[in-house]
Amino acid sequence: MENYDIIIIGTGAGGGTILHKLKNSGKKILVLERGTFLPREKENWNVDAVFKQERYHTTEVWKTEGDKDLHPGTGYWVGGNTKVYGAALFRLREKDFHQIQHAGGISPEWILKYQDFEKYYVEAENLYNVHGKSGIDPTEAPRSSEYINPPVSHEPRIQEIHDKLVALGHHPFFLPIGVKLDEKDLLNSPCIRCDTCDGFPCMIHAKADADINCVRPSLDDTNITLLTEAKANRLITNESGEKIIAVETEYKGEILQFKADIFILSAGAINSAVLLLKSANEQHPNGLANGSDQVGRNFMKHQNAAMLGISTHLNPTKFQKTMAMNDFYWGEKDYPFPMGHIQLMGKSQKDMLAGDAPFFTPGLVLEEMAEHSVDWWMTGEDLPAPENRVQVIDNEIHLDYTENNAEGFKRLIDRWESILKEVDGQEHFFVPHSLYLRKSIPLQGIAHQCGTLRFGSDPKTSVLDVNCKTHEVDNLYVVDGSFFPSSGAVNPSLTIMANALRVGEYLLEILK
Ligand SMILES: Cc1cc2nc3c(=O)[nH]c(=O)nc-3n(C[C@H](O)[C@H](O)[C@H](O)COP(=O)(O)OP(=O)(O)OC[C@H]3O[C@@H](n4cnc5c(N)ncnc54)[C@H](O)[C@@H]3O)c2cc1C
Ligand code: SF4
Repeated sequence: MENYDIIIIGTGAGGGTILHKLKNSGKKILVLERGTFLPREKENWNVDAVFKQERYHTTEVWKTEGDKDLHPGTGYWVGGNTKVYGAALFRLREKDFHQIQHAGGISPEWILKYQDFEKYYVEAENLYNVHGKSGIDPTEAPRSSEYINPPVSHEPRIQEIHDKLVALGHHPFFLPIGVKLDEKDLLNSPCIRCDTCDGFPCMIHAKADADINCVRPSLDDTNITLLTEAKANRLITNESGEKIIAVETEYKGEILQFKADIFILSAGAINSAVLLLKSANEQHPNGLANGSDQVGRNFMKHQNAAMLGISTHLNPTKFQKTMAMNDFYWGEKDYPFPMGHIQLMGKSQKDMLAGDAPFFTPGLVLEEMAEHSVDWWMTGEDLPAPENRVQVIDNEIHLDYTENNAEGFKRLIDRWESILKEVDGQEHFFVPHSLYLRKSIPLQGIAHQCGTLRFGSDPKTSVLDVNCKTHEVDNLYVVDGSFFPSSGAVNPSLTIMANALRVGEYLLEILK
């Protein structure tokens, strides 16, 4: 059995990014990824294939409360979920790292603060081609430098809404986004500003994802070996239980063991917890690094809702994900509790709406709705709760989640609807009384999964230490979304990437 210096498990926002950071270390690195490279094919941009047939989601079935089946909206690919993400790459707010009183309870303090992450946020933004413009969003934390890429411009209908929001006294800003777009030279720009980005893979590799930006550029190095279709099943410790010596892996149907000095787990917040639980042994009877009984607990996924604002105005926008607003992030006058974040999402198309419409809704109506809608995505912070957890029962993944902290988020949705009514000037048409269609995203929407192995200083209440090494196992690090002690209310990937760069830098230092 070959011995590696480092084994990385998973190649998403966390794993792909740390691989990139470690690629020139001279260390012999093995990367285990359960998926394959996501194929380039016409279906990449086909609404029916992506949304209805869920072509890029796993067919795994998990369990949830009452032993009900759960079909998780997640995919296993080189690049992980960044292959299909919307690439909205936000920093957390400065206060998100501190204890915050919400209407529904307390969001806990992080062991590190915004300033500890700032330089890694810069590095992550540069690595992932983020476009943006600072100084507009009043909730934005101080930055040491401007975005290196200009903001992605709004198309005319979005510009119109932007201007009306500003006239009403709001502060919409350019959404920070990781795409390889050159608006000064569109003819040669890798990104073509299409309408199949958010939720779709990019057929022409112009989205800044972990596969294209991090994994592939690392593979030229002869010290790095990537095995795809290699699913880590169990981590094996030495006799004292203090060190991992090998990872048992299902590789193209065979069970193999790979050895290394350092193991970096980055299988996503749910699957990393699953792997630790499945690796229980005599020294770690409740699961690896789980003496605290914290592994798998405090699972968070944000409260997410989509809103279609349908007005008489046509919305011919193609690339819609250009604007966001945080004016109610920390609350509003007479409401001193956080409410959440608002951003545009990818432009909805007729076939995407079909699933949510009553079966008798004619295709023409759906088409009209899609042509006139402006599509919003809203996120509210959910609070860490021990009973919201990942478990492995009879070798099956169980995910239990009870919504919490809903009051502020509900207020945000109502508030946004009333603002959109002002913006649209009440010019309603064919859907009487109900022009703002809302949809809460159900549990299977685990896009923003985090929190299952939180980092902290106290081994009784956290699984990872400040360097994201498990408190109980000496050579095991975790760099995916599981380290979050709280979820904030902006999209998580940039913080996962920044943290992976931070942990990578620490490893480079100790491996010198
Ligand atoms: C439709 C969609 C849109 C999104 N949009 C945004 C957005 O705009 N902005 C944003 O910030 N976030 C967005 N997200 C969320 C974002 O994709 C995730 O937060 C991010 O990818 C999580 O990174 P991760 O490293 O924790 O996990 P992942 O990226 O999921 O990576 C986990 C990796 O581990 C692999 N793996 C799992 N188990 C094993 C195993 N046992 N052995 C080997 N390999 C394994 C997986 O195949 C995968 O490669 C979106 C997600 C989705 C699904
Ligand atoms: S908008 Fe750009 S990055 Fe997104 S899928 Fe289209 S071409 Fe790719």
